[in-house]
Amino acid sequence: MAPTATLTDALNSPDDPGRGRHVAVIGAGAVGVCCANYLTRAGFNVTVIDPVEPGSREQCSYGNAGGLSPGSCIPNAMPGIVREVPGMLLDPEGPIGLRLIDLPHALPWLIRFLWSSRRSRVDEIADAMIALNRHTFESYDPLIREAQCEDLIKYRGQLIVYEDIEGPAKSALSVGMRRARGVKVEILDGNQIRELEPAIGPAYKAGVYLPEQGQCPNPGRLVARLWRLAVSRGARLHRAKARGFVLGGDGVVAVATDDGQVGADQFVVAAGAFSGPFASQVGAHVPLISERGYHVMIEGDGTGLRVQTNSASRKFVAAPMEEGLRLSGTVEFARPGTGPRWERADILLRQGKHMLPGLDASRVRPWMGNRPGTPDSIPVIERTARHRNVILAFGHGHQGLIGASTTGRLVAELASGQPTMIDLTPYRSNRF
Ligand SMILES: Cc1cc2nc3c(=O)[nH]c(=O)nc-3n(C[C@H](O)[C@H](O)[C@H](O)COP(=O)(O)OP(=O)(O)OC[C@H]3O[C@@H](n4cnc5c(N)ncnc54)[C@H](O)[C@@H]3O)c2cc1C
Repeated sequence: MAPTATLTDALNSPDDPGRGRHVAVIGAGAVGVCCANYLTRAGFNVTVIDPVEPGSREQCSYGNAGGLSPGSCIPNAMPGIVREVPGMLLDPEGPIGLRLIDLPHALPWLIRFLWSSRRSRVDEIADAMIALNRHTFESYDPLIREAQCEDLIKYRGQLIVYEDIEGPAKSALSVGMRRARGVKVEILDGNQIRELEPAIGPAYKAGVYLPEQGQCPNPGRLVARLWRLAVSRGARLHRAKARGFVLGGDGVVAVATDDGQVGADQFVVAAGAFSGPFASQVGAHVPLISERGYHVMIEGDGTGLRVQTNSASRKFVAAPMEEGLRLSGTVEFARPGTGPRWERADILLRQGKHMLPGLDASRVRPWMGNRPGTPDSIPVIERTARHRNVILAFGHGHQGLIGASTTGRLVAELASGQPTMIDLTPYRSNRF
């Protein structure tokens, strides 16, 4: 892209409020909106660039399962996954969707994914995951209180259920990894899981209960509320698609969008699964892929489920939401531009009925979203080496709602030049 603006131009442009430090954030999902909040609290003027409204259906942050787990520390690629993947791929009802035609697109990422499952690496990943995730509640707290939406975080714990009675014993490694990091874990038999959640059918014979974890019953509404809070502190939405950075003599001076340029002093890349090209432009080449996920939202489900329940055997989540029950899961790899394959949503529905035999699925709405996946389950959070006024904050994969609040704090600390609340070495892009 041709340089069209200098830093001075950018600072004087109509897009710059002219009240000192101005940060442009690309992306208004959970991560971008939390960045906007913490940046405005730190005294920055903030413009968020996104073609869609924060909290809308197009965002991955809208349709997730709402899990808010400070204890989340189990990487997606655990030792032994190499043996499991072929079976998952061959099973049409399995948790991974990959068609032969999409294999060349996914293969380089999958190789890195499998490589990250080695025993020597998973403990490092788990440490990095929990270092970020353990602060989720405390980082959301001030925002939630100020936005007066305390009803959007429930502290009900989380349940993982197994069809194999030996399931928890066979998960000894992940149970041990959680306990080693101070996460409270209770092992339950079949009767105990039904005492906690009577709707769970007899096919499920054992469980692991994580009492300190939480859930958001409407992530889309949470993002929308937190965005309103950021707006009340002066943040603005530039509703357009970002096309790339504009480079001037001093480096990055603006973001080129479908609707003009947005000049700023500092820039944050928080465009979820679509962040890769922006990072590459500033010299950070991150193997980021969309791990497409699905949900079915069931109104009037009739199950009475209270606690977010994860099926360990079938790898999907049953989450009680404000609007009903949300069954979510699947990791699907597809070339960019490929339309949703709604049969993945039908699979979730069948699995939900198997877990919750009393499920009334007469009113169902499907959804598909793009998880921003790195192969090692850890996001990228850094000030880039080549362009010191660009901060990367993306790649939160299956834990973006959990990680968003603390990522917002970290980004504000980086933008302010303060020491960060956690060591950011594990989240650097040069680990790839
Ligand atoms: C089925 C499913 C279940 C999940 N369950 C959970 C869970 O229980 N707990 C959890 O923590 N996480 C969960 N996740 C993951 C979580 O939803 C994501 O990690 C998180 O939403 C990522 O947030 P984000 O802000 O990075 O991305 P997004 O929410 O996707 O936001 C990115 C924004 O960037 C914008 N954008 C993209 N390109 C451009 C551009 N060129 N210019 C301007 N803007 C752009 C998009 O419009 C979008 O608004 C789940 C995901 C799925 C799919």
